[in-house]
Amino acid sequence: MSPTSLKAKATAACAALGALLPAQVYWPNSDEYTTASTEIWSKTCVLAPECVFEPLTARDLGDGIKLIREHGSKFAVRSGGHMPNPGAQSVGDDGVMVSMSRFDGRSLSGDKSVLSIGPGQRWGEVYDWLAPHGLAVNGGRYPMVGVGGVLVGGGIGYFAGERGWSVDDVVAWQVVLADGSMVEVTTAEGDPFEDLAWALRGGHNYFGIVTRFDMRTFAVGPAYGGLTVYGSMAKTTYFDAVDAYMAPGGGADDPRSAINAITTLQRADGTGEWHYGYISAHMYNGDDPSPRALENFTAIPAEHVVMDGSGLHREWTAIPNMMNWIESRDSRQLFWEITFRADRRAVDIAHEVFLDSARNELSDVEALTMVVSLQPLTRPWLRASKAKGGNLLGLDPDKDAGSFATMIISTWQNARDDEAVLAFTQKASKIIEEKLKKLDLFNPFVYLNDAGRDQKPFESYAGGANLPRLRAIQAKYDKDAFLKDYLQHGVELSSQVSEHEEL
Ligand SMILES: Cc1cc2nc3c(=O)[nH]c(=O)nc-3n(C[C@H](O)[C@H](O)[C@H](O)COP(=O)(O)OP(=O)(O)OC[C@H]3O[C@@H](n4cnc5c(N)ncnc54)[C@H](O)[C@@H]3O)c2cc1C
Repeated sequence: MSPTSLKAKATAACAALGALLPAQVYWPNSDEYTTASTEIWSKTCVLAPECVFEPLTARDLGDGIKLIREHGSKFAVRSGGHMPNPGAQSVGDDGVMVSMSRFDGRSLSGDKSVLSIGPGQRWGEVYDWLAPHGLAVNGGRYPMVGVGGVLVGGGIGYFAGERGWSVDDVVAWQVVLADGSMVEVTTAEGDPFEDLAWALRGGHNYFGIVTRFDMRTFAVGPAYGGLTVYGSMAKTTYFDAVDAYMAPGGGADDPRSAINAITTLQRADGTGEWHYGYISAHMYNGDDPSPRALENFTAIPAEHVVMDGSGLHREWTAIPNMMNWIESRDSRQLFWEITFRADRRAVDIAHEVFLDSARNELSDVEALTMVVSLQPLTRPWLRASKAKGGNLLGLDPDKDAGSFATMIISTWQNARDDEAVLAFTQKASKIIEEKLKKLDLFNPFVYLNDAGRDQKPFESYAGGANLPRLRAIQAKYDKDAFLKDYLQHGVELSSQVSEHEEL
């Protein structure tokens, strides 16, 4: 299909949307259009759609989808705008951007055991709203990230050890399907959409557009934790603490504990010299002011600590709110995901190949920050997930616990460096994979929400065993592959050619 004809289709779809729902369609050069189309975390994803459609209700969204389909236009769906893969939530003037911002409702069930939330919200708002009720949900760790993307992709939260993935706590969805119809899906046994309920727990945006998630709540009070930053002199003690945390009987075995161990590499202002920083973003659920699970981090000598944000907080929400500190809006960003055994050799390989080599190979890239972020897949987490029925991510507590789902992240300033950063990341990830395979430390799991643009998470879930079922469900609910081929995804369903013709 030629770009000109796609542009004409987008123009026609926008005109039809504007005629039907004029107050919900924003045009270039309006403030609403600019806000909706640029409210995106990574500048690599910001594009100028033909128009922005911001539906008020599921019915409006369904009517809009019917028009977009009728005109054969490409489209994108944005919730919090944080997935940094180009095309994940944005489209140029050959398509329509659907903004979910007005799906901002939240309410508790009568007995407060279930929270209904719209995908137009961010986790920080949700946690702050629930806190006065003494309740929480197991959403994402960063307050600015959107509810929509996290809950269609999996969800790593602070309560993972006690509750599993975020999707394990979703009990119902309101979904607009590819034909514009709206359905209510639940996890109840015998639900007519049982297959869809399975696919929605991690199947990304291939199965419908979710307009409401119902999530289990739980009681929460004070918590210990926060963000502690260590200087480069802390390298050895810091990685010793990470090792001790992951060792049998270490903090990782305590379901109340969660850590994210982050190494950063950037140039110092003024001198331009490269320097490394080590961050522990951790939480211990409960009122213990010095939890044993985190003792190896708290024992790191004070002279190695640059900023200590850890402590016992009366409200657990202080911990996610602290993550606002990690703000890189207005930059360009690339995520990549590599999973490996929690073994110091593997950690060293990832750091050497990704961080140390970047100092030479990307030395000309302006305002470069490189990050290796270790996210421990712990036994309590994977067991909690399995106890709730598991999900399509397909991790096995016996085989996969004790690994790091590792994000490798690059942040930089200018579009001219996009290709160099991508090429470096692709090359580095291949080298890391090869080295890890030789040591039998590689795990093929790729977490969709942290995956890079060319990675194939679905092919990695349960070693690819879930793919045929996913493809069958996709074909059942999206018969003519409208969502598959016309909606922007940022992540492929699979590299195999489907029975449907590609756009
Ligand atoms: C700073 C930062 C912190 C992060 N922290 C965490 C974390 O703690 N835990 C974690 O698990 N992940 C985390 N992530 C990864 C995050 O889960 C993904 O980037 C996620 O896709 C972001 O969701 P969003 O709604 O903000 O993004 P968007 O870019 O708006 O959406 C991402 C994708 O989901 C689709 N989508 C969004 N809403 C819907 C919907 N209602 N129905 C169907 N499809 C939809 C979009 O079409 C798009 O393809 C983080 C990312 C960043 C940048």
